[in-house]
Amino acid sequence: MDVGGLAELDGRITGCRACPRLVEWREDVARTKRAAFADETYWGRPVPGFGPADASLLIVGLAPAAHGANRTGRMFTGDRSGDVLYAALHDVGLASRGTAVSADDGLELYGVRITSPVHCAPPANKPTPDERDACRPWLVRELELLRPSLRAVVVLGAFGWQAALPAFAEAGWTVPRPRPAFAHGARLTLGAPRAPGAPLASGSIELFGCFHVSQRNTFTRRLTPAMLREVLSAAADAAGLPTKPHPG
Ligand code: SF4
Repeated sequence: MDVGGLAELDGRITGCRACPRLVEWREDVARTKRAAFADETYWGRPVPGFGPADASLLIVGLAPAAHGANRTGRMFTGDRSGDVLYAALHDVGLASRGTAVSADDGLELYGVRITSPVHCAPPANKPTPDERDACRPWLVRELELLRPSLRAVVVLGAFGWQAALPAFAEAGWTVPRPRPAFAHGARLTLGAPRAPGAPLASGSIELFGCFHVSQRNTFTRRLTPAMLREVLSAAADAAGLPTKPHPG
């Protein structure tokens, strides 16, 4: 994929129309809206990654939420899942604030970027395997562009895990075979990117599994704020990012 930098990649992603079902769904949701947001203009397009281009920690989710990121145009912004994620990032010192309401709310991430293996909101939060595969080249290119600074990754949920491992392999990292199963608390090392004929751009990365911050997981307390903070802190430590202790 001929893309210069992350800003260019993000711009290209927002214009993608490769998946007919998702294009129709995201645009239909943007037209019909939820009553609470009836007077807002929905984004209704693919949502690119969010965070600095030299991030050392990457968080990989699943896909934009219909009335969250598909409305606001920024990852995990404007929905309950994002409330939980950004509160935890702020608690451990990786975000400037603990809420995310709109793309222009001033929120900054410190050394962290957030992306997803599917960039368009899918019906019932369930992309098909074909849609996941169609979107993979965007993630592979994002990983290649982050490679010089990337040290650790947190993957939220089994879908993201299954989608991310092949992308890491395609981007050159060594992924164990058989591929490790997803688990909350899973941690593994992916060997340094292979770059035939070129010097290695960076070393290995640490990959962490964490339950997704979905309402189903957080309302049932399958994933608590403390569990999330624990994974984020461990990953930040692996990425060499400073964190702050949280009293909870
Ligand atoms: Fe393009 Fe990915 Fe959206 Fe499919 S899901 S239309 S590949 S951005």
